[in-house]
Amino acid sequence: MIKVLKFGGTSVGSESALRNLAAIVKNEPSQKALVVSAMSGVTNALLALTRDATASNDRFYGELLQRHVLAAKPFMASNQLDDLEMKLKLRIFGLRQTVDRYLSDHADREALQDAIYSWGERLSSLMVASILKARGLDAVAMTSEEAGIAAVGSPGNGAANLDLCEKNFLGNVLPLIEVGRIPVLTGYYGADASGRPLTFGRGGSDYSGSVVAYALDAKTLEIWTDVDGFMTADPRIVPTARTIHEMNYGEAAELAYFGAKVLHPRTIEPARKRKIVVMVRNTFHPEGESTKIHELRTPGNELLRSVAVKSDLSILKVYSSEIVYNPSLVTKLLESVSGDGVTTYAISTSLSTLAIALPSGATQRICDKISKMEMGLIEKVKIKDKVSLICTVGDDLINRMGAAAMIFDAAMEAKANIEMISEGASDVALNFVVPSEQANDVVMRIHERFIASREG
Ligand code: ADP
Ligand code: ASP
Ligand code: MG
Repeated sequence: MIKVLKFGGTSVGSESALRNLAAIVKNEPSQKALVVSAMSGVTNALLALTRDATASNDRFYGELLQRHVLAAKPFMASNQLDDLEMKLKLRIFGLRQTVDRYLSDHADREALQDAIYSWGERLSSLMVASILKARGLDAVAMTSEEAGIAAVGSPGNGAANLDLCEKNFLGNVLPLIEVGRIPVLTGYYGADASGRPLTFGRGGSDYSGSVVAYALDAKTLEIWTDVDGFMTADPRIVPTARTIHEMNYGEAAELAYFGAKVLHPRTIEPARKRKIVVMVRNTFHPEGESTKIHELRTPGNELLRSVAVKSDLSILKVYSSEIVYNPSLVTKLLESVSGDGVTTYAISTSLSTLAIALPSGATQRICDKISKMEMGLIEKVKIKDKVSLICTVGDDLINRMGAAAMIFDAAMEAKANIEMISEGASDVALNFVVPSEQANDVVMRIHERFIASREG
C-alpha cells in the first residue's frame, strides 16, 4: 500500500521543520512518495523577480542558494553538502537562463513567467531528498517533468491529465517505489504537451499531492502543513477555531474552493475519484489532532461545521434590458469570463442585470471585453471592488429550515451588507458576498454563534 506525503512551504522552510519532516518520513513504514512545496517565501520572491527582473540579479540568486544550503547544512557531512550545493547551483543556472529568456522573449511572457515560478520546488525537492539521504533513507529527487506529471490549461491555471500521469508514473515512478526508494517530487506544476512547465495556481502543491496519489493508486494522501488539520475556520482569523476530525469529500472541496487555504481548491478532485483518504496533519505537532477526509461520514446535528472566506473579489454587474428575454446573452457573458480561464465565485441574475463575483485581478480585463461585445445590447457595466465571499458549510444545510435567516442575522450583527447570495446549488453550502472590510467580523460572529458555542 502506497502512501503519498505532501509537505507545504513552512514544513520545508526551516531547519526545525526539516528535522520534523525527516522524522515523519523515517517513522512511516509504508512504501511512499513525497511531494514538496518551495521553501516558504520562495515562490513569492520568484513572483517579485518577474515584476522587477533585471539582467543581472546576482544577489537574488546568491541568497536563494544560501537559503537552501544553510537549511540543509545541519543534516549532513561537508562532502554531502558540497554535492547538494553543486546540484542547486546547476538548477539556479537553469533559472537564470529562463529569466534571461523571459527578458528577451516578448512573445512568450506568460509561459516563461509560469516556468520561473516553478523553480522554488525544483530547489526544495533537491534539498529535501539530500536531507533524507543523509538520514539514511534512499530518497531520490524528481522533477514533475521526470516523473511525468502531465498538465493542460493556461499558465497559473493548469490541471493534470490524470490518465496520462498514471501511465507515465507506471514507467517513471512506480518502479522506484517498488524497490524501496522514496521519490521526492516537485509540487505546484506539471508539464504541458510540449514539455513546458504549467503551474496549478498558488498553493498548487496540495493538488500535486492528490495527482501523485491518483497516479500511484495510493490509499492515503497526507497533507503535512502548519496547523492541526482542517479547522472550523482559518485560525488566523478565528483563534478559537477547532480541528474538524472527519469530513467528507464534498464539504472539504466546497470549503477549499471558497477560501479555506489549507487545501488548494482542486485537491479533492483526484482523491475523490479513487477514494483516496486525505489526512491533514501538522508537521510541527505530528502527534496532535488531524483531519480525515474520505467518502462517508455520519452526519451530525449541528447547523454548521465550518466557515471560510475568499477575499480579493469584485462584483461585475452587467446591465441590459435584454437579459431576461435573451438567455443566450447570459451564456455569452459567462463564456467570455470562463474563456479567459477566470473562476466565477457567484452568479445572480435579475430582469435586467447579471452580477458575477470574480477575482479582483481579472475584473477590469473582463469588463473591457464585455463592454466591447454585443454592441448596443449591453447598457452599462459596473464594478464593485473589495468584496469577499463567505462560505458556510453544514450537513444538509439546504434543508434546514431557517438556516439562512440565522446566518444572515449574524452578518447583520457585523453590520455587513449582503451584496450577493448563492444558495441551493450545493446541498451543504450557503455562500454570500459582503464588503471585505466586514468579512472577518462576519466570519468570527458566525463561528462564535454556530460553531464555538457547540461542544467540541
Ligand atoms: P502549506 O504551506 O503547508 O501548504 P498554507 O499556508 O498553504 O500551508 O495553508 C495552511 C494555512 O491555511 C494555515 O496556516 C491557516 O492559516 C490557513 N487556513 C485557512 N483556512 C483554514 C482552515 N479551515 N483550517 C486550517 N487552516 C486554514
Ligand atoms: N510554492 C507554491 C506557492 O507558494 C505552491 C505551494 O506552496 O503549494 O503557491
Ligand atoms: Mg498550501
